Amino acid sequence: MDTEKFWNPVLETMPRENLEKLQLKKFKRTMKYAIDHSPFYQRKYEEAGVTPEDIKTLEDVRRVPLVDKSDFKLAQKDKDPPPFGELLGVPLEEVMSFSHTSGTTGTPVYLPDTAESFEDWKESWCYCLYGMGFRNTDIVFMPFPYNVYLGFWLGHLSAQKLGCTVVPGGGLDTRGRIRTMQEVEATATMCTPTYGFHMAKVAHEMGLDLAKDLKVSKMLVMGEPVSPETKQELERQWGADVYEHIGTGESCAWAASCTEKRGMHVLEHLFLLEVLDRETVSKPVAPGEEGIGVITTFGRRSFPCVRFNLWDIMTINEEPCPCGRTSKMIDSVQGRADMVLKLRGVLFSPASIEEIIGTKFPEIAEYEIVATRSGTREDLLVKAEPSPSVSESSHSDIKSRLIEEIKFKTNLSFDVEFVSTNSLPRYEIKSRRFKDLRGK
Ligand SMILES: [Zn+2]
Repeated sequence: MDTEKFWNPVLETMPRENLEKLQLKKFKRTMKYAIDHSPFYQRKYEEAGVTPEDIKTLEDVRRVPLVDKSDFKLAQKDKDPPPFGELLGVPLEEVMSFSHTSGTTGTPVYLPDTAESFEDWKESWCYCLYGMGFRNTDIVFMPFPYNVYLGFWLGHLSAQKLGCTVVPGGGLDTRGRIRTMQEVEATATMCTPTYGFHMAKVAHEMGLDLAKDLKVSKMLVMGEPVSPETKQELERQWGADVYEHIGTGESCAWAASCTEKRGMHVLEHLFLLEVLDRETVSKPVAPGEEGIGVITTFGRRSFPCVRFNLWDIMTINEEPCPCGRTSKMIDSVQGRADMVLKLRGVLFSPASIEEIIGTKFPEIAEYEIVATRSGTREDLLVKAEPSPSVSESSHSDIKSRLIEEIKFKTNLSFDVEFVSTNSLPRYEIKSRRFKDLRGK
């Protein structure tokens, strides 16, 4: 075996049988740690009547309840100690790093890290970067300021852990960044795909060709979904290999492409990934079939993350990879299943309301769906804006028909409120019509 190819040859090429035994042992340990240190998990598992002793096989893991971002927000909101609340898995004085998720859906999740958990993070990143071919001879240029988001901090510190020379370029403008990459003879970089294209455009204006005038041979793109076409085009413009990894603030970085570029290897000795059916999120799907990703992080005791539903749609690939790693791979994430979520314990897709209103209610010009929570009660409301031609006298009839149709289609009871003409924003992206205010 060419051990040079692996950050840890033993763990990355372990026979699957042993790997799965290791995962089972680590899952039980992680679950026990979560119960002992987080009132949120303790309560959740007590209610479900499941203990670490009940988990005798990896199949048994599915008896453990799922959690998601909205649960995490509730476990932090107004809970001690702020802002980490009931998810803090260590004494507060051990926390040495504060960050939060990028909060595309409102309130962020606050993420505490200790020196030890930060090492866990960096270690998982080292597997990712090493697999992409980053080595101690690389000069890595970081064209971003880091702020409170973890991604680029980890990129920086993990590349240093590998022995790379890291050049932070956050304070420069794009031209300055390109000139610096030339000056330090950078061999690698990390950026969002959008910014990768922007740099290529600016370089062109400067009379430079990134593929010829720079020495960058590999880049890690992150922060946005990237299609195979986008990747290819970036590779062409930069004359570099483009790699991806997957991670969230809650779960750490748990999969990354290797130099074979056939998919992303799941770091299975550090994480348990389940890909479950889209309808009930309870049964594993077959390789190649689309499902929803659920992740458990074995390390990072400062923020236990057990069976975290990512709501990301992905497919698993069990074909052996020529690189020699024995872990399963996932193909690129095919987008978020945001639009399938749990309301009052029932799986719900806001698209079903779109369909009802679009096909059966020409009287409604625009609408918004709002989910709120007070205590354990979830309230669901459709705000509907009637077309100008609709008379007020018919509102109550439309309202009762709509409530009935929604109930029939989704099994959920919604309230309907009429709002005045042109009071709702016009949305270009359908999904924005759904306001999930439950974690606020
Ligand atoms: Zn591979």
